[in-house]
Amino acid sequence: MTPPPPGTPHEPTFGHELPPEESPAPSKGSIRILQLYPRDMNIYGDWGNALVLAQRLRWHGYAPELLEYNVGDAFPADVDLIVGGGGQDSGQLVIKDDLLSRASTLTELAEDGTPMLVICGLYQLFGKFFKTRLGSVIPGIGILDVETHGTEERLIGNVSVSSPEFGTILGYENHSGQTTLGPGIAPLGTTAKGTGNNSSDGQEGARYRNIVASYLHGSLLPKNPDLSDFLIRTAVERKYGTFSPGQPDDSYAVLAREHAARRPR
Ligand code: GLN
Repeated sequence: MTPPPPGTPHEPTFGHELPPEESPAPSKGSIRILQLYPRDMNIYGDWGNALVLAQRLRWHGYAPELLEYNVGDAFPADVDLIVGGGGQDSGQLVIKDDLLSRASTLTELAEDGTPMLVICGLYQLFGKFFKTRLGSVIPGIGILDVETHGTEERLIGNVSVSSPEFGTILGYENHSGQTTLGPGIAPLGTTAKGTGNNSSDGQEGARYRNIVASYLHGSLLPKNPDLSDFLIRTAVERKYGTFSPGQPDDSYAVLAREHAARRPR
């Protein structure tokens, strides 16, 4: 592709289309994945989480439908699985009013058990608030009983988490916000390498209903197939009653995990 001439407005890199199917799987049903705010909240490869879910769904024999929701869009009906990524403080300020206007819809979906994966910036805004390093308070939608305070210390690097549900989770963090969990919520796991939620309690991420919240980018799901399959299984069981797994090709995930596990902090 010829590069655009200098000064051409930058087009977002998230895709509107799925990559071509390698081999059409017999469809056991379809699953609608909604990615929240990919235009403003999509850093360090977070879009890859949606692509992994779509590809693994195909491997399991289900047809994925991938939708995007950005500021000002109509909220789609019949969503089975929701993913949201991280962003700069400025991106969080851009989406905050629209996100607040969707608080009741998202809360209803969350309380009803819709599986969701929210990373970093959207993890923070699914909580009560994020007070940025510069002192602005960005209100969250309060689905998660967590609060976040920006600090001068930026937490950056590779992370390994021990999770009681998902084993070792590997990823990469880069945030100024430090999150603490309230009494009504459990962490996703504890950090064996890296920092996670904050620099004091050794916890990373949060678990509530079928929501997985995490600081980890990378993207996260290509290296963590058990987590991907939890989200997929939950979405399929909610929609169809039972999940009949296929045979995903985990060879690249295994290599990516080996590589990520060897990386220094
Ligand atoms: N802007 C937020 C912070 O710095 C979230 C960063 C992110 O999503 N990586 O804490």
